[in-house]
Formats: sequence, C-alpha cells, structure tokens
Amino acid sequence: MGHRAGHSERRDVSAMGTAEQQSREPRKIDPERLDRVLRAAVAAGLVGGEQVAAGFVDVDGLLRSVADLRGAFATDGVGGRAEVLHTFAAKACALVPVLRLLAATGLGCEVASAGELALALAAGFPTGRIVLDSPAKTEAELAQALALGVAVNADNLDEVARIAALRGDTGGSVLGLRINPQVGAGSIAAMSTASQHAKFGEPLRDPGARERITAAFARHPWLTRLHVHVGSQGCPLELIAAGVRAVHELAEEINERAGRRQVTSIDLGGGLTVNFEGDEIRPSHRAYADHLRAAVPGLFDGGYALVTEFGRSLVAKNGFTAAVAEYTKQVGGRRVALTHAGAHLATRTVLMPDAWPLRISVHRPDGSRRVPGPDDPPVVQDVAGPLCFAGDVVAHERPLPAIGPGDLVVLHDTGGYYTSAPWGYNSVARPAIHGFTTAPDGEVRFALVRARQSVEQVVAESGGAHADSLLGLGDARGGA
Ligand SMILES: *Cc1c(COP(=O)(O)O)cnc(C)c1O
Repeated sequence: MGHRAGHSERRDVSAMGTAEQQSREPRKIDPERLDRVLRAAVAAGLVGGEQVAAGFVDVDGLLRSVADLRGAFATDGVGGRAEVLHTFAAKACALVPVLRLLAATGLGCEVASAGELALALAAGFPTGRIVLDSPAKTEAELAQALALGVAVNADNLDEVARIAALRGDTGGSVLGLRINPQVGAGSIAAMSTASQHAKFGEPLRDPGARERITAAFARHPWLTRLHVHVGSQGCPLELIAAGVRAVHELAEEINERAGRRQVTSIDLGGGLTVNFEGDEIRPSHRAYADHLRAAVPGLFDGGYALVTEFGRSLVAKNGFTAAVAEYTKQVGGRRVALTHAGAHLATRTVLMPDAWPLRISVHRPDGSRRVPGPDDPPVVQDVAGPLCFAGDVVAHERPLPAIGPGDLVVLHDTGGYYTSAPWGYNSVARPAIHGFTTAPDGEVRFALVRARQSVEQVVAESGGAHADSLLGLGDARGGA
C-alpha cells in the first residue's frame, strides 16, 4: 500500500506527556489539517476507488490529549498532591497499535473482558497499570487477573465474596468495589451508568446499602479501593462530580470505621462528554479537574491515590472516517447519496441518530473539501450507507454540497467507539485504519493500524471452517 515511510524514526512519546504548557482555551481541531491529511491519503491510495472506506487516527492529536489530561491533574500549579494513575478505557478504541502508543506515554489501561485484557497485554501495558472492570466477570477471568496482579474492581458484593474465595495468598492486585452513587441519569438513558436502576456497581442509596458496603470492607481488609464511573456521553460535569463526591464521603466513612486508612485509592472512572457539534474540544480535562477540585474538597490532598479511566474524551476528536460516494439519486423530491459510510461503521449514529449525530463534510475525489457557499450551494440531502435496510442513513436531510459519485464523505470525530463498535450486518469487510502525523512543512506520514478485512476473513468469521458441519447431523445426508 502506498504508505510513505511510516516506521522509521521513533519518537520519544513519554516526554510529550508532561512538558506541555497548558492553556485554558479549549483546544480546536484544525479543519485545514484534516483536508491536508485526506488529500495525502487519497494520493497514497489509502481511500478512494476500491478503497471504499478507511478510518484515520491522529497520532499528534492523541498525544496532545494525553498531555492535556496529565496537565489537568498535575500536582504542580494547582495545589494537588494526589498521586494519579491515568488509564485508558480500552473499549473506546480497541486497536493494539493505538493502545501501545498510549502505553508508551505511561498511561494504564482499563479493561472489561478477557479480550480487552489480552489486547492490553499485547499492547505492552505493565500488569500493574491495568484495571479490570466489568459487571459480569467469570471465575476464570478473576483468577487470571489475580494471578497477573491486575487491579480488579468488583462490581458487587457477591463478586467480592468470590474474590475472597479465590484470593488465597495472591497479594499483588489492588482490589476495589464499584459503587453506583445513584446520582441520576444524563441526557442519553442508555449511556447513564449511575441512575437509580443502572446495572453497574453496588447501589449506595438503597435501604441498608451503606451498611452492607461498610461491613464488607470491615470483613475484607484487603479491599482498599472504591470505584465510581458516572458517565458517559450526555452527563454534565455536575453529575459526575456528585458521584465522585458521594464515593469520597463513603471512603472517609469506611476509614473512620476501620480506624485506619483502609481505602487508599479512589478510581474516578471516565465519562467526560464529547462535543460532536464543532471543532472545539470541550469540556476539557482541565475543566473537569477544576470542577472536581471545587466540588470534592480534599480529593486532591494526597489522602487517596487517584485512578482515572477516560475513553471517549481522549480519542473521539482524534479520529475521522472517510468513505466513497458510489451513486446519487432523487427520491420523492429528496437527494440521496449512496455511500460506503453506513451502520457497519457508524452503528450508534444510524440506529440512534438523535443521540449520536455526526458532522459530515464533502470532499472531491482528490480529498479537497467542498466548502458550501455561493459557488457550491448546499442541498438538503440524505447521506445513506451501503447496507440492505432502509434505515441505513448516517445523516438525514443535511444541507451539504451536492454529493456526486466519487466524492468522499468524512464523518468527523469518530476516534472513539466507532471502530470498536462495528456491526457485522451484510458481511461488509471492515475497512483499514491508518494512523497519521503531520510535520510543520506539510508532510503527512501514515502507518497502518489495522488492515482492511479480506472477504476470506469474513467467511472464516462466519463459520467457514465448519462449512459441512450441519450436513453431518441427523438425516441431512439422506434427505438430499
Ligand atoms: C466505558 C467506561 C469508561 C470510559 O468511559 P468514557 O465515557 O469513554 O470516558 C470508564 N470506566 C468504565 C468502568 C467504563 O465502563
């Protein structure tokens, strides 16, 4: 593939994680830079023609976001003394090269399945920087985590009992309990992890709950962490901070009862919302940290080590998806573009268009952007995908330059949860994903993150190795 030398020079990514000067102005994605990258991608043969779709990861942007996160919680300047381990929630971008880049910056990794744990290990995260969460860990998963020394947040008290039975003498894992502070829901019900009936964590406000939790800590002195994750998309900072505050109070209460500092760390989770409406990256991690400092006095005093588990806020705006428009038609008076961007790539957007709208821009076949204006007037149109169901539309009645065959459509801000939530409907091969950096002189360099899926892989994933298996059952042979 036409990659320009993508592998040569190694960058000292760890240095970039701390040094950066922080600004309180929200950072912005540069649309001209995106255009430059897309033109280079077309020139390199990465998208266009038979390369009907591709995902792109902004390596420079990702490292900036990590530095911004670090700076927001840094102990210098803002008066905090707490030791902080930032982990990345693997499910937001489950790609090994991306995880390895993040590992190289010193981040840890939050995982929620045996598969994600395997990805984290393949990416090279030290086991001491991995945190296992998930609402339904099996005994084997728990045993593996304990054997590796991976930190575990139990979802509930039954799981604490299971860990107690498995634990034996293994002392390497930090063990905690996830709390549902029941502080309420954000604007997207399916994304709200701390509502009255949310399935996650041990509920804090149900009758007798507080007593049950503090008693469990009294019974199990090796429980040293409390975990809370109030999220995600659509949750205001106030709601997240209220959850953290409730858990900080609980930690104080447990330690009071224990007569010692039994709870030594608090895992704050992630859940910072993403602005899908424009180029600004807001709310920033700094705004979040400032909000926490004000809302939870004492949290940053150093009495507790802190863990964070951000996902979307680190990656969403550092990625985009480009796809080819194949045909256009007029239907019932509306223009419809048939493109290769559909529900297989933008599952949530297509299935829940009001909750997950995406910005879309239109580009010529060479990648240059068609800016709507008097020379290229916007036309209200649907941007549809290639799948065989009528709802496969990534944007409804959107005013955009009239898309033509061969044009490219760009779905913006797809760096989080898009590549990690594909949909196998219609057996469309998953597209390639490329990482990129840009140099001040304009040069764009690409490196392959994930190859395009082959149709052979699609067949294999669909039971191809067992093609005859049903013919061997019962009467099937005689029935021919
Ligand atoms: C999904 C998840 C995260 C990350 O959430 P974001 O909204 O992507 O920041 C962190 N912690 C847990 C337990 C999660 O389930």
